[in-house]
Amino acid sequence: MPELPEVQTVASELNRKLKNRKIKSVAVNAPKMVAVGPAALPPKRQAKSYQVLKFIKLLKGQKILGVKRRAKLIIINLSPTSLKLRRTGRSLHLLVHLKMTGQFIFEDKKLRAKTHGLYRMFNKLSAPKVLLPGKHTHVIFTFSDASHLYFNDIRKFGYLKLVRDDELDQVKELKEYGPEPLDKKFTTGVFCSAAQKTPHGKIKEVLMDPKTVAGIGNIYSDEILFLSGVRPERTVSRIQNLEFRKIYSNIKLVLKKAIKAKGSSVGDFVRTDGSWGGFGKFHFVYGRKGQKCKKCGTIITSVKLNGRTGSFCPKCQR
Ligand SMILES: [Zn+2]
Repeated sequence: MPELPEVQTVASELNRKLKNRKIKSVAVNAPKMVAVGPAALPPKRQAKSYQVLKFIKLLKGQKILGVKRRAKLIIINLSPTSLKLRRTGRSLHLLVHLKMTGQFIFEDKKLRAKTHGLYRMFNKLSAPKVLLPGKHTHVIFTFSDASHLYFNDIRKFGYLKLVRDDELDQVKELKEYGPEPLDKKFTTGVFCSAAQKTPHGKIKEVLMDPKTVAGIGNIYSDEILFLSGVRPERTVSRIQNLEFRKIYSNIKLVLKKAIKAKGSSVGDFVRTDGSWGGFGKFHFVYGRKGQKCKKCGTIITSVKLNGRTGSFCPKCQR
């Protein structure tokens, strides 16, 4: 599943590529993946066609002001281009969650000429190249200059939700997210007190809880804990202050490095031009079970925590 660095990569690239583009039309092939309004989604996914028609109608003619990220959510800020809509004074935001296998591919004439419209939709060299829109393309945005944005999702867990300005504070996901790890307001104190709210929790699970800190999942919690020398199954109450400070600074360090490398192409994550993120080769433990530790040569092992796998080096981490 894409985590903060992957979502940040997509949001930054979309911000650069989509800014000031005008939406000419939208095609929706999977009605359950789109919604209008702040209601939770899932589990109350609606397949009602009026929602889809409303979604398409509202997006048509909107200009993209910018794209940003909050936790693992991509937020596309829109501005109405027609005077009539502008008079209502309401602006819209398109919230997109990639979930497990969501992908955004932006294609203009230049990229189409370079790739002939063919993309590898899976993070494997052996995966066949697909001509977009493919069978996993569920939403297609066409812009006024004939460029396209494709939303692909093999597992269909992702969603696109259109909300008004005045509805943003009712969006459940946005309300529940904890602090942004790269924000200045996320201090050691903020982190420690959030983590210590669950003294009996395992540190890896606590790091992956979006209420403690937003955007960290399986990959980056493993990497952060390796660099901090702490095993994933350690209980919060038994972690020393010095270790907490190490974990805190490694949260920032690992996420910044991963953003710089454009994320990890684990699962089906690709960038907006279909290429892969480059952080995978820097992983110390994630996805390396059975291989030698890059620091000490000990074999990387793993532990099951609430259905998730935490990989660690038994010598470097205690
Ligand atoms: Zn080691």
